[in-house]
Amino acid sequence: MPKHIFVTGGVVSSLGKGLTASSLGRLLKMRGLRVTMQKLDPYINVDPGTMNPYEHGEVFVTDDGGETDLDLGHYERFIDESLTRSSNATTGSIYQAVLAAERKGDYLGKTVQVIPHITDEIKRRIERVSTDDVDVVITEVGGTVGDIEILPFLEAIRQFKKDAGRDNVCYIHVTLVPFIGPAGEQKTKPTQHSVTELRSRGIQPDVIVCRSEQPLSADLKRKISNLCDVDDNAVVNAADARNIYELPLILHDEGLDTVALDVLRLETPDIDLAEWQSLVDTVEAATRPVRIGLIGKYIQLPDAYLSVVESLKHAGFHHGARVEIDWIQAEEVEGLLAQGRLTDIDGLVIPGGFGSRGFEGKIAAAGHARENKIPCLGLCLGLHAMTVEFARHVAGLEGANSTEFETTSRHPVIDLMNDQREITDLGGTMRLGAYYAVLTPGTKVHHTYGEPVVSERHRHRYEFNPAYRSRLEEAGLVCSGVSPDRRLVEFIELADHPYWVATQAHPEFKSRPDRAHPLFRDLVGAALERRASLEKESLSVRQ
Ligand code: GLN
Repeated sequence: MPKHIFVTGGVVSSLGKGLTASSLGRLLKMRGLRVTMQKLDPYINVDPGTMNPYEHGEVFVTDDGGETDLDLGHYERFIDESLTRSSNATTGSIYQAVLAAERKGDYLGKTVQVIPHITDEIKRRIERVSTDDVDVVITEVGGTVGDIEILPFLEAIRQFKKDAGRDNVCYIHVTLVPFIGPAGEQKTKPTQHSVTELRSRGIQPDVIVCRSEQPLSADLKRKISNLCDVDDNAVVNAADARNIYELPLILHDEGLDTVALDVLRLETPDIDLAEWQSLVDTVEAATRPVRIGLIGKYIQLPDAYLSVVESLKHAGFHHGARVEIDWIQAEEVEGLLAQGRLTDIDGLVIPGGFGSRGFEGKIAAAGHARENKIPCLGLCLGLHAMTVEFARHVAGLEGANSTEFETTSRHPVIDLMNDQREITDLGGTMRLGAYYAVLTPGTKVHHTYGEPVVSERHRHRYEFNPAYRSRLEEAGLVCSGVSPDRRLVEFIELADHPYWVATQAHPEFKSRPDRAHPLFRDLVGAALERRASLEKESLSVRQ
């Protein structure tokens, strides 16, 4: 039976609880343990799939088509395991299951209550990922202690220790130690209050992870240990890191994995940090600047593009380059181009999105990249924008559009497939999860992947319209990857361009810090080449 680590948070949200949990997951893996991770989210939505990115940030898609919390992206990137829809459970999905059981009569006439029915269902969700294939399950509880919605979750994880046995459960509480006042004093009071709140729910933390801007002194750690009744070595300091990938090393130095293993009475071989250390060295050494414009709609909240940003960084690590992201509001692209701006950009990403706002800007960006031979990668809606751009301006299909934005378009080059037409429910009804694509030999995409068949995750309703395929191909568009039944176009590119490539999928969900996704790797590679050749040109002009 696997051991369980529960991670809760206090004081404020956005403390990096997910990153702390992910880093611990990685440390345990580096000790030879098999680890899986899970997020319990107290909000009522059944999943984050119907939420606006401004509400929630990116929706992370799993291979099996789960629309999940963005923390699962951190988990996958850190522990390097593919997770499933079972790795995320919300209050909504838990109530949905309980209510369905109630309608079927499964409760045999009993009054259905938060305790035990909701808490039992929460425990079932935890057990669902506790398979024989794992040694440790790390469960992060979203929100902060003190939230109204979190109570059933705290009750369920409290009970879990009784069910599983005290040596099989470790509670980690992540808090903030802020700097206050002109003297910049570090304050422990919020941590004390947060632990008191957790205790009032019957949970005594085994480990407290204190987030802080500056490192905590030994005295302060002792104070927290005394006041919160945890061992000296169980107060772990996660001071701000230079980059997120340094966190496992910092937390290991602070002894997080050692104390968690002690609590769980787990013995493991010594940790082997070499690989992760070399990743962090690579990250630190990645200093060659390269500027990538991200043509987004939700750019006020960078978390809306979290996996895209991480994928770009990974691609930078691969090339020893530091990717600087230029956040460009899609609606402003046409104006910026008219003013002659966007000239210092080495490459572009046109990411996914929903709704018409900014779509014309994305088309303009695609055209700018095509005409000026700027490397450009389109993701999902990005493929739609690039297809429409090509149709309008190269294939001469005036008025071409996606029927997502113009149902009566003269040339619906992007359209709904039949199986999507009948759908009225918004939640969970898109084309979701992993699908195979067969790549066309000799194309850039084929060369980039280096494999004839690839699998990528999807999340969309609209597709490249096969009725327009031959007309667009005659005009020079290359369909470089199609679904195995050849019905759907999965990748497009141009032959006479350094890198103008788009995919119907979301490759950003599969990039890893030490294994940049090939599409991002080659985008950044092409951007670096362009930058180097422009620098050379300007040098020779000056001489
Ligand atoms: N809105 C488009 C669709 O539904 C693209 C979705 C996306 O970019 N993920 O097909």
